[in-house]
Amino acid sequence: MSERNTETVMVTGGLGFLGSHLCDQLIAAGRDVLCVDNQFTGTKQNVRHLLGSDRFEFLRHDVTCPLYVEVGQIYNLACPASPIHYQRDPVQTTKTSVHGAINLLGLAKRLRARILQASTSEVYGDPEVHPQLESYWGRVNPIGVRSCYDEGKRCAETLFFDYFRQHGLDIKVVRIFNTYGPRMRPDDGRVVSSFIVQALKNEDITVFGDGQQTRSFCYVDDLVAGLIRMMQTEAGFTGPVNLGDPTEITVLELAETILRLTRSRSRVVMKPLPADDPRQRQPDITLARSSLDWEPRTSLEEGLHRTVAYFRKLLYA
Ligand code: NAD
Ligand code: UDP
Repeated sequence: MSERNTETVMVTGGLGFLGSHLCDQLIAAGRDVLCVDNQFTGTKQNVRHLLGSDRFEFLRHDVTCPLYVEVGQIYNLACPASPIHYQRDPVQTTKTSVHGAINLLGLAKRLRARILQASTSEVYGDPEVHPQLESYWGRVNPIGVRSCYDEGKRCAETLFFDYFRQHGLDIKVVRIFNTYGPRMRPDDGRVVSSFIVQALKNEDITVFGDGQQTRSFCYVDDLVAGLIRMMQTEAGFTGPVNLGDPTEITVLELAETILRLTRSRSRVVMKPLPADDPRQRQPDITLARSSLDWEPRTSLEEGLHRTVAYFRKLLYA
């Protein structure tokens, strides 16, 4: 006979970069965690240290299919986040965001469970408003190569807010800006992991376009703390809330910083800019500061030091 375990927190995408760190912080806080993942980009290596724990359970499952479990809270992080991964099977990417949201919202409705959606700064597209505030509706190409991710995430937000309005569901939506740290995949093509791996191997650093496009990079521990803060806010506070580090730098400056920190002999080479690559991105985190009492604590240099140490060990230990 199954008994509803309302203490259990479900993390979809829990084998991934952010999801595995979220599992870590939840277990450290004394929670029981059910990690659900189809291993598309995530790996059991990321949670190997948790597999022996009585409070941690892994379920291999694709969120595009319905799921019948008994949990008290749901963090929905399932979705590949790196452009090369989400563009590898774009139809599956849209299905993961849209069917995944429908299935998980249905589950949350049956359980009357609180559910948090890991949305993204990509909902702002290539923004004309800078820095990006939650009230900005964005500028997204609906038919481009990034659309499977951007529009999938936008539709998921729509579903979350319709379940809130129509069914009174207890939803939380956060818009995550570029986040980096240990457990990013060395081959995932995202800028921080790519530059660090290239620098450590003394290979060319591939800067796309003129390198003057900007991003704002948040260290993973800070970001995950923000997710948990959001989950703990009072019912009725839905967001969306931006979570990210407002320190904005150009991609070229990032390359130079990583070259310096790794003392690499690599040289910077320019490659064509991918389609629809946003020119600028910087979160306005006024709402996160006031409503979650949250802001990032880890400087870019400190976060990069820790990430470089991780990749050095991964590649050479
Ligand atoms: P990731 O690729 O490391 O993790 C995603 C996880 O979801 C992987 O473990 C993958 O196997 C799993 N997954 C993918 N499709 C699935 C499916 N259909 N069913 C079950 N599991 C599935 O990416 P990440 O950086 O950890 O991102 C996690 C979440 O945060 C994503 O939803 C992403 O959109 C969001 N996000 C991340 C960033 C960032 O900078 N890292 C920025 C904005 C938003
Ligand atoms: N980028 C780059 N070289 C790389 C990988 C990425 O110059 O090897 C650039 C990319 O064009 C973009 C920025 O770095 O302008 C961030 O790319 P990433 O894929 O990490 O994230 P996103 O574009 O989704 O913000």
